[in-house]
Amino acid sequence: MVRVFNYSPASPEAIDLAIAEAARVFWMHLLPADWVNCSAAGPRPECSLKSSQDLIIRVIAKALPNAGAHTLGMTSRFQTGSSAAIFFDRAESLRLGSSPLPLILGRALAHEAIHVVLPEQGHLHRGLMKAHLTQADFQLGCTDCSMIPPAMAVTVRRELERRALYGHSMTLAAKSAGSPQPAREIP
Ligand SMILES: [Zn+2]
Repeated sequence: MVRVFNYSPASPEAIDLAIAEAARVFWMHLLPADWVNCSAAGPRPECSLKSSQDLIIRVIAKALPNAGAHTLGMTSRFQTGSSAAIFFDRAESLRLGSSPLPLILGRALAHEAIHVVLPEQGHLHRGLMKAHLTQADFQLGCTDCSMIPPAMAVTVRRELERRALYGHSMTLAAKSAGSPQPAREIP
């Protein structure tokens, strides 16, 4: 499961559409995955679950000071796992032209989710995992722009399946031990 938390001026509708785009990219190139908007109105039980196997991505207002000039997001690694942030101001700056904001945010979500899953994986020269994504990469007619090469897709899929299996067994173990999982957000 990928949990998305919005701390930016992006509207809830824009985040919903961005999540739909990220889910589409995953479905097309990797596998169907549960993407949840954890900033949507109303309680979402899946957002208060704690599993180290889940992916957490925050959409934040401004790029972090240590981000490169053209960076759309960053993934931070911790001993307990990784979490990622997408920069709303950088997505906005790419919006000029015909690229809708949710498309840019959605592709950035999918890009960072892959960094979280495969922290050792570097960037590629084309497709979704390019290091420097420009306005040209978000044109509506570009079929190649969300592409993930099959070899990388196999590795990502394997890791996502491992996480899903491991996360499920962890949840079962926690339930049988009677220990409730406290809600926690990575800051
Ligand atoms: Zn990247």
